[in-house]
Amino acid sequence: MKTFDTPIYEPDESFRDQFNAVNEDGKRNWFYPQKPKGKWHNRRSWFTVLILSLLFLMPFLKFNGQPLLLFNVMERKFIIFGIFIGPQDYWLFGLTMLSFMVFIVLFTTIFGRLWCGWACPQTVFMEMVFRKIEYAIEGDAGKQKLLTKAPWTTEKILKKGLKYTLFLAVSFLIANLLLAYVLGVDELGKIISEPISEHVPLFAGIAGFTAVFYFNFAWLRDQACTVVCPYGRLQGVLLDRNSIAVAYDYQRGEPRGKLHKGQDRTEGDCINCHQCVAVCPTGIDIRNGLQMECVNCTACIDACDSMMDKVGFEPGLIRYTSENVIVNKTNKLITNRVIAYIIVLVLLWSGLGIMIAKRTDTQTTLFRAPGSQYIENKDGTISNLYTFKIFNKTNFVVRPTIHLESPKGKLIFAGKPDLTLDGAGMSQGTLFIIIPKSALPNRKTKLKMSVYQGDKKLESFETTFMAPEE
Ligand code: SF4
Ligand code: SF4
Repeated sequence: MKTFDTPIYEPDESFRDQFNAVNEDGKRNWFYPQKPKGKWHNRRSWFTVLILSLLFLMPFLKFNGQPLLLFNVMERKFIIFGIFIGPQDYWLFGLTMLSFMVFIVLFTTIFGRLWCGWACPQTVFMEMVFRKIEYAIEGDAGKQKLLTKAPWTTEKILKKGLKYTLFLAVSFLIANLLLAYVLGVDELGKIISEPISEHVPLFAGIAGFTAVFYFNFAWLRDQACTVVCPYGRLQGVLLDRNSIAVAYDYQRGEPRGKLHKGQDRTEGDCINCHQCVAVCPTGIDIRNGLQMECVNCTACIDACDSMMDKVGFEPGLIRYTSENVIVNKTNKLITNRVIAYIIVLVLLWSGLGIMIAKRTDTQTTLFRAPGSQYIENKDGTISNLYTFKIFNKTNFVVRPTIHLESPKGKLIFAGKPDLTLDGAGMSQGTLFIIIPKSALPNRKTKLKMSVYQGDKKLESFETTFMAPEE
């Protein structure tokens, strides 16, 4: 094995001038990656079993009688690990999203695109489900190419028909899974068991999402990562020389050259066999360096290790490593940048923790009715007219009552408002607060109010009360 103390490799950067998913005529370059096999692929297969089990199991998991995860974007109701975030919790929602983004930035700075290769549903479904169906029906890359070029014989019709029917079935399953996260399994089960005519918009939604997933996995494929996904496009700013990524060790591999029998080899360890390119689902050559198109699927690590094994070289010419390790043989995972991200994240999580701890089940606003004055009653009391709104910040039914804590007085509601609040519901109305004049020494008095459900105090708040001056 050849080693170098200083970088000797100056890569040809001209490949960056063109998008390899499109050919010179502007037509789509359809990739036929060879079936990956090896240590890393086996590890990923096991991890896929875990990820898919979690993905399909999660909507059934409940905490406190409600789903562990729910993303009901239509009604702006979210449940994240049992914490309900409703339409009133925009601060909580904003802070959760912000801390999620900072976490992604931190994770990517250290571990590169580990998420893309191992856990992203796009890669997991594309490479470990749809691609495997394709290999099982049409065979490896060479056979797939031949079948595509072949005339429409019965065999081709049967193979393509079976493949696309299975693609459609899996897309339908994924559409239902998505809906389970949006509506919850109970609601989805109810919809499925009831006649289609009662849920036409939702069934249209399932059909629409099935079509989108089918289009994505049957046609869009690698371009979902290389053209559509914003995360992939951010890699240039998120990664640095210490980030871990699937990388080609050009110090060891270059200058590349074919291996000849009995030759006294002066080149590097790359035998220019192109196996790393042949297995790549995004059609890139990892030897060109870090590229936005690389989803870190590890297929090229296995392909190269198998070649190294065949020719008796050390494995790991392509491996998880960082640019700093390749060039300087050292790596620093905890850099100043990483420390800065950790500080921001700790601050955000502390803020989130405080907000969740101080969060009340209801949020009430009670203001004096616009343009209204105090009323002096004959029995020596003063009345003020208020309008109120009570928001339920939980996902359960709440039956609140409003109380005046101090000074002593009474509340008279206009009409008979039903204050019962559905999950994330709101109730509003008008009420008089009546207080003896003797308890009101000033023109403006602060009232201490509370909202109860049964004996449980849900919330305390203040409002002002106007009285005539002594
Ligand atoms: S370069 Fe390697 S790790 Fe990156 S997408 Fe291609 S095969 Fe996967
Ligand atoms: S698989 Fe390894 S040896 Fe073959 S071309 Fe790629 S980097 Fe070189």
